[in-house]
Order: sequence, then C-alpha cells, then structure tokens
Amino acid sequence: MKYVDVVIVGGAVVGSAAAYFLRAQSGFKGSVLVVEKDFSYEQSATSRSAASIRHQFSTPENIRMSQFGTHFIQNIGDYLSVGGEVPDVGFHEGGYLFLATMAGRDVLEANHRVQRSLGVDVALLAPAQLQARFPWLNTSDLSAGSLGLSGEGWLDAYGLMQAYRRKAVSLGAEYQQAQVTAVQRAGRAITAVTLSDGSTVNCGLVINAAGTGAPALAQSAGLFLPVQSRKRCVFFFSTPAEVSQCPLVIDPSGAYFRPEGSGFICGISPPDDQDPECFDFDVQHGLFDDVLWPTLAARVPGFEAARVQNAWAGHYDVNTLDHNVILGAHPEVDNLLFANGFSGHGMQQSAAVGRALSELVTFGSYRTLDLSAMGWARVIERRPLLEVNVV
Ligand SMILES: Cc1cc2nc3c(=O)[nH]c(=O)nc-3n(C[C@H](O)[C@H](O)[C@H](O)COP(=O)(O)OP(=O)(O)OC[C@H]3O[C@@H](n4cnc5c(N)ncnc54)[C@H](O)[C@@H]3O)c2cc1C
Repeated sequence: MKYVDVVIVGGAVVGSAAAYFLRAQSGFKGSVLVVEKDFSYEQSATSRSAASIRHQFSTPENIRMSQFGTHFIQNIGDYLSVGGEVPDVGFHEGGYLFLATMAGRDVLEANHRVQRSLGVDVALLAPAQLQARFPWLNTSDLSAGSLGLSGEGWLDAYGLMQAYRRKAVSLGAEYQQAQVTAVQRAGRAITAVTLSDGSTVNCGLVINAAGTGAPALAQSAGLFLPVQSRKRCVFFFSTPAEVSQCPLVIDPSGAYFRPEGSGFICGISPPDDQDPECFDFDVQHGLFDDVLWPTLAARVPGFEAARVQNAWAGHYDVNTLDHNVILGAHPEVDNLLFANGFSGHGMQQSAAVGRALSELVTFGSYRTLDLSAMGWARVIERRPLLEVNVV
C-alpha cells in the first residue's frame, strides 16, 4: 500500500502554496502528495476570486500575512521560477480605498492606527483631498477615506496557483486527481486517506486545504469545523465614463469596485442574516440591478451608464465564528493540519499560510510569523478574533 509523509487535500492556491513551501523548506525531507478532485479548478474559489491583496485589515496577523503576500508576489521570481522562467501573475499595485461616512470614521481611524503601527503605507484623506485625487468620486456624504499608497492591488489568482503548483512539482511534489472521501483516524492520529476510487494512501500527516470541502473532511475525522460555503457574485461591467487612476474602492455600504481589463468588476457581501450556506453557482442578477448599480452610480456618477458584460458566482469558505482563517492542528488530533475559513482572504494569505504550514510540519512550531492567534484554541473556547474590515 502506498505511503507518503504528507498528504495535502485540495490543490488550489492554498494547497499548492503549502506543497511549494514544504518542498522548499530545507529541514523537510519527506514526500508530498497533493490530492485534488478537479484539475480544471473550475469551481474552486481560487479561480473565481476577485484576486486582490490589501494591507488594510484590523487584525495584526491579517496585516502581516498580506504584507508577506505582497513581498512574495513582488519577488515571485526568487521563489517560483522554474528553469529560469519567472511566472507573470500580472500584479497591478492599484491600492485600496476604504471610504467612511461620519458613522464609520472612528473605525477607519482606529484601523489606521493599527495599520500604521505595523508599517502599512496608508494615508487618511479628507473629502477635499479625495475629490482632488479622484475627481470622478462623489464625496458629498463622506468624512474620510483610507488609501493604500503601496503594496496593495490585484493579480491573476489562477496564475499564482499554477505557479505554486509548477514549482512544487519541480521540487518533487506529486499531484493526483482524485477526491478524498475520508481521513482515517485512530485516536489522536490520522493514519490514511481514502480516495474516491476506493484506494487508500497511508500517511504521516494530512493538511486540509479543501476550501468549502473542508468541513466534510473534518467531519470524517469526527471533528466539527465551523466553516460554511457562502455565495459571492462578481459582475464585470463597462462604462464610457473616464474613471482614471481608480483603486479598489470599498464604499461605506460594503460594495466594492475596481478596474479589470477594459472595464470594472464589482460585488458586495450580503448581511449575515441573508447569507445562508449555499452550494449553487447561480448568479443573482438582481443584486446588480437592485443594489450595486444604484449604489455605485451614487458614488461615481459616471457609472450611471454602466453595462454588465459578464458575471459569475463563487464560494467563500466562511469561518462563522470570526471570519478569520483556522490554522494548525485541532487539540484532539496531532497530525491533521487545517487551513480553512479564509472568508474571502485566502488568495492573498496563501504565501504566509503555505509558509506557516511548512514550519508546523517541519518544526512543530512557527519560525517566521507567529500565527498562533489563528489556531483552534479561540474556536473551541468561542473567543472570536474579530476582523472589523470584512469585505
Ligand atoms: C467571488 C470571490 C472573490 C474573492 N476575492 C478575493 C480577493 O480579492 N482576495 C483574496 O485574497 N481572496 C479572495 N477570495 C477568496 C479566495 O479566493 C479564497 O480564500 C482562496 O482561493 C481559497 O483557496 P483554497 O485553496 O483554500 O480553496 P479553493 O480555491 O476553493 O480550493 C479548494 C480545492 O480543494 C478541492 N477539494 C475540495 N474537497 C476535496 C476533496 N475532498 N478531495 C480533493 N480535493 C478537494 C477543490 O476541488 C478545490 O480545487 C475570493 C473568493 C471568491 C469566491
């Protein structure tokens, strides 16, 4: 029967980042098998992501993870080149702009202080400064805006995932297309994974990087993972309006928009009580007509003439406790590591999380960025580590 040291379940951006960092970790000598149920990645969150990276979080760990994410992307050739070929993930350092009315100003300022203390390159702008910088923006109801001056932007998430994967394979990781139907547990240890063809792979450790498939995997080990699949729709629209130097703008309503190719993409997360668990990919077209279009046209009058050209739905793996990743081992099982519940931040956190997992596997503890706060303890004790800037 086949034996591998580490099985990674799910080979999209997080699983592939973990495979890369493990194989690149000089202290790690084991074998790595990534089991991915669909090599097209068609329904993965990674393929359907808005693919943006920001430093403007309220949780220090989230800020630090994204700072490393930017460093990684800016130096991607040092990490992920294969045969001298540097991956091109099309990083566009366009920044984020969080807008606040009077009601949101205190939160914006509190976040600003945390961000500045961690070296985030961010500026608080008054409405007149916003107007001068972005003449297409309606600032009449705003009290301030927080603009990322460097390090934030957007990229090709699918390209990043493939770059991790290619490099991981070049370093000896193996990929297999199959669904993991269960992990086999004996007391405090996982001993094997069962695949959809009925075969079994014995293993020394399992990493759960299965996105919205993660709770089912946890359940097969007798563990409850508080993660749900929640639908998010993204709309691509064109406009004849001149909206130049546009960052990724977060409206006080929570709606966002940013440039994409010749047009813009936009979306909004529903309120919690209208956000049930969901596994279909049906686009909620009414969301654009009834919510996004009026909101965006009020914020950018030029968007009055917006025309939707394309739209898609994807699934966030939402951590229902606090919208932050659950990282590391559950206290009842030593060799099953989790990296789930990203709640819309997993692409930008993939590098930091991949590195963190490689450290946990190799050394049993974090060596670079201490991410203990993102572990299971807070989940089990119901102590949410609340991220205020949820988008
Ligand atoms: C609309 C949308 C917009 C987003 N915008 C952003 C953004 O701007 N910035 C950002 O950082 N993040 C964003 N995200 C979130 C980000 O895309 C995800 O957090 C990230 O891609 C998660 O990666 P993952 O590898 O954990 O999961 P996924 O990409 O979902 O991959 C999980 C993989 O596991 C496989 N799998 C599942 N179960 C099994 C099993 N039992 N056996 C084998 N394989 C299995 C699946 O086939 C899949 O390929 C967005 C997500 C969506 C949906």
